[in-house]
Amino acid sequence: MDGAKQELILIVDDHPTNLKMLFSFLKSYGFKVLVANDGESAIDKLQEVSPDLILLDIMMPGIDGFETCQRLKASAVTKDIPVIFMTALTDSENKVRGLSLGAVDYITKPFQQDEVLARVRLHLKMRDLTKALEAQNLVLKQEIAARMGAEAGLKKLAQDLEERVKDRTAELTHALQDLQKTQVQLLEREEKLGRIAFQDSLTDLPNRAWFMNRLQQVIHIAREHPDYLYAVLFIDLDRFKVVNDSLGHLLGDELLKSVSRKLQACLRHTDTVARFGGDEFVILLEDIKDIDEAIKVADRIQKEVRLPFKLNEYEVFTEVSIGIILSTSGYDRPEDVLRDADIAMYHAKAQGKGRYEVFDPAMQTLAMARLQLENDLRRAIKSLPSSRGAIDTQEFCLYYQPIVSLSTGQLNGFEALVRWRHPSKGLIFPDLFIPVAEETKLIDDLGWWILQEACYQISLWQQQFPRKLPVAINVNFSAVQLKQMELINRIKQILEKTDIPICCLKLEITESCLLETLGWEEKILKQLKALGIKLCIDDFGTGYSSLSRLHEFPIDTLKIDRSFVSRIGVDKDDIQIVQTIVTLARSRGMDLVAEGIETPFQLQKLRELGCDFGQGYLFSKPVDSEIATQLLAQEQVFGHCYFPSAFHNDSNT
Ligand code: C2E
Ligand code: CA
Ligand code: CA
Repeated sequence: MDGAKQELILIVDDHPTNLKMLFSFLKSYGFKVLVANDGESAIDKLQEVSPDLILLDIMMPGIDGFETCQRLKASAVTKDIPVIFMTALTDSENKVRGLSLGAVDYITKPFQQDEVLARVRLHLKMRDLTKALEAQNLVLKQEIAARMGAEAGLKKLAQDLEERVKDRTAELTHALQDLQKTQVQLLEREEKLGRIAFQDSLTDLPNRAWFMNRLQQVIHIAREHPDYLYAVLFIDLDRFKVVNDSLGHLLGDELLKSVSRKLQACLRHTDTVARFGGDEFVILLEDIKDIDEAIKVADRIQKEVRLPFKLNEYEVFTEVSIGIILSTSGYDRPEDVLRDADIAMYHAKAQGKGRYEVFDPAMQTLAMARLQLENDLRRAIKSLPSSRGAIDTQEFCLYYQPIVSLSTGQLNGFEALVRWRHPSKGLIFPDLFIPVAEETKLIDDLGWWILQEACYQISLWQQQFPRKLPVAINVNFSAVQLKQMELINRIKQILEKTDIPICCLKLEITESCLLETLGWEEKILKQLKALGIKLCIDDFGTGYSSLSRLHEFPIDTLKIDRSFVSRIGVDKDDIQIVQTIVTLARSRGMDLVAEGIETPFQLQKLRELGCDFGQGYLFSKPVDSEIATQLLAQEQVFGHCYFPSAFHNDSNT
């Protein structure tokens, strides 16, 4: 056997001898051999087998060797099979034609066995090589294709990468811009927060937080340098609420802004003013020589603030109360400095507003006492019964001061005056606790109790003295009470419950309260009047400016303030004032009551001036309900006259 692989050879020849001879010869050399007698059967066979070589005779019946070769080369299946023609030695024309038709070689007849074997082997080898080459070619082509593919891929990759780099750069640029924007926003927010944290939004002044910080620093400096002095001025607008309520919050805000500008204008550049909220301002004077310097600033501020403020078409007047504290007390904490400055300011207010007070440690004691009083008052008022309970267990009671007719000396009615029977401090007078009750709004509950108690007293006296004209009681009503929403309804309820004639109830409202009266209270006063309740202006003459507004209110009675009465006989001008008030009351058809009559001389003068009624120690101090009842009984029985004996003759003649 020649070769590991048995190669297949197709012999096409019409000569049986040729066939036989070639068949056995090639077989003997280890080839597989197939035979076909003519071209057509050869082509048929080639549908099923694929020989490695074809030996093709030229001269055959049917289609000759050339035609067969042509057909083989035309078919994709057979075109690559090498074809060797078999031809006669002399037939050179045919040899050339055969080669041109795609044959690889020719063998001359009669056959030379060596030549046949050599040519067959050569062409099989060539065919193998061709195949191998083709295979390699294919691989190469594939490789080339793969490489080209890879290259295209690389190119695409590079392009993609480039594009991605572009996109990414754009994205990053965007992100960066966003980041920068966010950063700017953050910075703005931070700044805004800083502003909110340390600046008052209305006035743009530093706020409490800022001030406390600065004060802490200044306290530190003062501790390090014993000669270093600073002062704090605690400032509160007087009657700001009235402006706010009457002119509205917008103008209230404008006033605060104007005040803040004025305050700034009063300071050196090293001093600072902060707004603490509401109508409170605080000033820090750094590195000053002495207290006089702080007082000078306070004076300047008060002078400036007293000048009218122009807000829209309004001229608004205001004043400030100032508490001053000097650093000599050696403070450690800003809170303590402010507490004491606030206490001093509170004192300034209590002393009559529109003024300053320098802190003194005694003030703190007073402030503590006030706090204690406030707590006690809260407790006492909270334990008041909602309806009339056992009187003796209550800490509050009403005293009654007779109001006397100055023409007859007869009892005309009473003024109810509240007293506080404090469990440890004894009897406390209203001057001490009513202002506290007003400030803390505790007056609301206390006021209702007082009104109810007075009405019960009227109904009680009516039952006890049925034949006497019903006794009237004047009840003091504070400005705070006038602001209550349910006022009219609750008064109606009390009147219904106690079933007293409405004309027996008179409400006393201070002149200063009337001064601060706004639309709402004016309406309330008119409603009260419509109910049939009489209205009386208390302490008349002390709030002189309300004279002009007097006609706006439905007033029945004016009460001349005690300060005028007490100076009758001392100061000629005061008689003049009383005379004016009497004339005013007459012209408006109002009654007149003079309070605080202590001497027969005052009584005589008031009678001469034509004053209708009077009240005062000369007739009687305020007395408890038991004594007041006795006074009524005496009156009923004896027709008691309150005038001192010197006047009896007078009134009889
Ligand atoms: P007011 O309404 O002017 O009351 C008159 C005050 O003068 C009373 O003082 C009375 O005791 C006192 N007084 C009467 N006659 C004389 C006198 O001849 N000489 C002197 N020196 N004083 C005389 P009181 O009772 O201490 O009341 C003080 C103030 O407290 C009252 O002044 C009033 O504003 C307020 N007040 C009293 N009771 C009540 C109340 O029930 N409700 C309210 N809201 N305030 C009240
Ligand atoms: Ca009164
Ligand atoms: Ca009075």
